[in-house]
Formats: sequence, C-alpha cells, structure tokens
Amino acid sequence: MICLNCSGHFYTSNAWKNYCPSCFNKVFNKIRCRLCENEFWSNRHKPKFFCSDCSSEIPLIIDQLEFKVERLEYELEFKENPLSQTKLIELIRLCHPDLHQGPLEVLATDVTSWLLNLRRRAS
Ligand SMILES: [Zn+2]
Ligand SMILES: [Zn+2]
Repeated sequence: MICLNCSGHFYTSNAWKNYCPSCFNKVFNKIRCRLCENEFWSNRHKPKFFCSDCSSEIPLIIDQLEFKVERLEYELEFKENPLSQTKLIELIRLCHPDLHQGPLEVLATDVTSWLLNLRRRAS
C-alpha cells in the first residue's frame, strides 16, 4: 500500500487502511460519538461528531427535534399567556359585582379583583 499522507510504502492486511501506521495516528483520532457514545476514528482535518452509523440517522433526528422545539415553543407561549386580553376583559365584564347582587356578590368581587390583577400582569 502507498500511504496517502507521506506516500511511503507500508504493509497492511486491512484493505481500508490508506495510511501507514505512523500517519494514521497523525491523521485520525478517536472520537466518542455524541449519539451512541461508541468510539470511532475520525479524520482530524474533517472532524465529526457522530459515527458513520449515526450520521445516516441525523437528518431524521434533526427533524424530530425541530418538531419538538416547535411544540415546546407553542406550549410555552400558551403557558405564559393562557388568557388573551380580550378574553380577560370579557371575563371581568361577566364577573363584575354590579351584575351579581345578593349571595354571589362577595365571590364576584373576589374573582373580579383577581382577574384585574391577571390583566395588569399580562399587559
Ligand atoms: Zn504515512
Ligand atoms: Zn454513533
């Protein structure tokens, strides 16, 4: 075999080896795959994060992650603002103590002040 790095002749039983043993260690280093955690040889000049087995699955995994991020962003937005301003104003109008004289008056006053608080925080 002729080494791709130093052009020196060397003998190997491994057909896939394109570098002599001393160059192999210069050109390649062992990297732990970030996905399956197996070690693999990676060209130092073209560093990789994933072994060849995992590389083929990366586009699929990225797709799944993007979907997950989108869903989480949506959930987060919803959590921060579960009630829109319009809905809050409607609720305040519904609960207003003026409309609930009698036994419900105390509850109406309570809920209204709670809603007013929510509205102030949300804006
Ligand atoms: Zn060499
Ligand atoms: Zn892997």
